[in-house]
Amino acid sequence: MRVRATDFEAQRTRLGGAVDRAIATVLEHGRFVLGPEVGRLEEALASRTGANHAITCASGTDALSLALRSIGVGPGDAVVVPAFTFAATAGAVLLVGATPVFADVEPTTFNLDAATSERAIATATKASLRPAAMIAVDLFGHPAPYEELQKLAAANGMFLIADAAQSLGARAEGRPVGSLAPITTTSFFPTKPLGCYGDGGAVFTSDDAVATKLRSLRVHGQGTDKYDNVRVGMNSRLDTIQAAILLAKLAVFDEELELRRRTADSYGEALKGHVTVPSVAPRVEPAWALYTVRCDTRDRLVKALVDSEIEAAVYYRRPLHQQPAFAACPRGGDLGVSEQLASEVVSLPIQPYIDNEARQFVEHTVIHALR
Ligand SMILES: *Cc1c(COP(=O)(O)O)cnc(C)c1O
Repeated sequence: MRVRATDFEAQRTRLGGAVDRAIATVLEHGRFVLGPEVGRLEEALASRTGANHAITCASGTDALSLALRSIGVGPGDAVVVPAFTFAATAGAVLLVGATPVFADVEPTTFNLDAATSERAIATATKASLRPAAMIAVDLFGHPAPYEELQKLAAANGMFLIADAAQSLGARAEGRPVGSLAPITTTSFFPTKPLGCYGDGGAVFTSDDAVATKLRSLRVHGQGTDKYDNVRVGMNSRLDTIQAAILLAKLAVFDEELELRRRTADSYGEALKGHVTVPSVAPRVEPAWALYTVRCDTRDRLVKALVDSEIEAAVYYRRPLHQQPAFAACPRGGDLGVSEQLASEVVSLPIQPYIDNEARQFVEHTVIHALR
């Protein structure tokens, strides 16, 4: 039995002809860039997340760059980012000309740690950089500790950005991701919880001025009309076809989140005591983009899973400060938790279309491999 990390075939069966019909509608009206489906998707996303504005764009990476530019982050500015995340979180900072400063993550939730973030801010100041923003990542779908991080950001006159590429659909303190930080970015890459069939992303905010800037920045820095360029912008729009696909997929998104949750519950029960299962903070409902366990014989476990055709994968094998692209970036001290996690983590398949039999097969294979 093959257990897939993402099952596009099962998704197609579940959605029936809805995606095909949505694409056909766009082909007929022909408004391929910023067509009517883009506006409809933005309204649906804003109402789901509780943010006043949802601004779609071409990718999760662009969403981060747009967010940083919308608050004026650029050369001479420092942005605190976790060392244990996907490369784009830090890459976007360098792309806008600012400097990422690495902080460590919490050993339990793998999210940005407030104490080491404080040290990263001090590092930035010592290096004569202006501490401008912090990017917290909702790693593997678990929202970061926003209340604590927002206090730290506010105390230092910094913006807090949530990189929610993996956590759309999650909630904390009863509020949905998208309204947990002043600015939130997400990705619609096909393997994310809400994925399109290509690249896509979005930025959420309730700040009207930031929203206006974001809408301008994604269309060449446009002002009141297309002959008016008030700033240097990007070309970063979500294709109408992708928006149409996402609208069709939104209809089953809550059900998919529930199916992921069911697998997480089952794995948690079966695997605790065998590996370190993910811990969920109080009043948090993760989106379960990935189900990441810790194990000190990780490489042996990965081999056993892959040999059994279970598509397990390691996110992430190297923390960012050890990547050639980011090795020169400053650090807020010791990044020991990130380094330890990189040698111990493995993510088990948790997409919505894993049935009971597949779940039990994964659980059995993990337990057996560790005997
Ligand atoms: C996927 C991801 C991104 C980038 O999204 P793209 O749409 O692939 O550009 C950024 N941050 C995190 C944490 C991600 O997982």
